[in-house]
Amino acid sequence: LKKDVEINRQHLEAVQGVGSNKNDVEIKGAFKQFGANVVLNGIDLEVKQGELLTLLGPSGCGKSTTLNLIAGFLDPDRGEVHIKGNNVTKVPPYKRDLGMVFQTYSLFPHMTVYENLSFGLKLRKVGKAEQKKKISKALELVKMSGLENRYPRELSGGQRQRVAISRALVVEPELLLLDEPLSNLDAKLRHELRAEIKRLQKEIGVTTIFVTHDQEEALSMSDRVVVMNAGKIEQISTPTEIYNHPKTEFVFQFIGKSN
Ligand code: ADP
Ligand code: MG
Repeated sequence: LKKDVEINRQHLEAVQGVGSNKNDVEIKGAFKQFGANVVLNGIDLEVKQGELLTLLGPSGCGKSTTLNLIAGFLDPDRGEVHIKGNNVTKVPPYKRDLGMVFQTYSLFPHMTVYENLSFGLKLRKVGKAEQKKKISKALELVKMSGLENRYPRELSGGQRQRVAISRALVVEPELLLLDEPLSNLDAKLRHELRAEIKRLQKEIGVTTIFVTHDQEEALSMSDRVVVMNAGKIEQISTPTEIYNHPKTEFVFQFIGKSN
């Protein structure tokens, strides 16, 4: 883990212009409860332009709920969500310019890879020839060129997630939201795809919010990590800082540093 953190730090220092001072997303004082269950208990969060920010925390701590507020699938009971400086709290998901990938079932099962990617382009009235160009580029990005005519059931789990990422990116969204996209994959593939997501995120520079419950994944991939616990944010910082200076007992325990 220590090695992962160090490699990530070196990588980030080598990459020019990571994150800017502009915020692409701001969550201000968000509360959310389901029945009596308070799921978000006052979340304040700023996501910088071009960064890969990870929401990290145990199952049930409110990571997906936070992501769904940003996507617009859920409304906060109190608080606001801003994207690119606009208050979008009441704006429906389809009017927010973002790409999203889930843990499973991200693809339309009855459509080929090509059709899955062209779906969002058609909605945006992109012409046939232009669609072809964009799809070919997006598949190349995730090393899936040549598999255009396959159906999701004819792909491995890793290939499906690659296509799902490609489909999210093909429309060139302002924001990329990834909810535990690697959690269903085996360890080897997970490591491989981590590196790949990090590489392509930097290559295209899309502001990305990544959700995981895996400490190693968070610390090895992210520009900054948000550690969540029971609907609250415990710490927001770089992986190095979180690893070396956990701010709370919870972060200390969860990161599992034991020297
Ligand atoms: P995480 O993604 O960190 O695992 P979630 O944000 O999915 O956590 O869920 C946080 C809590 O909210 C959990 O206790 C979960 O059971 C509850 N929850 C999430 N979505 C709903 C819903 N639509 N209705 C009721 N409870 C929900
Ligand atoms: Mg979740």
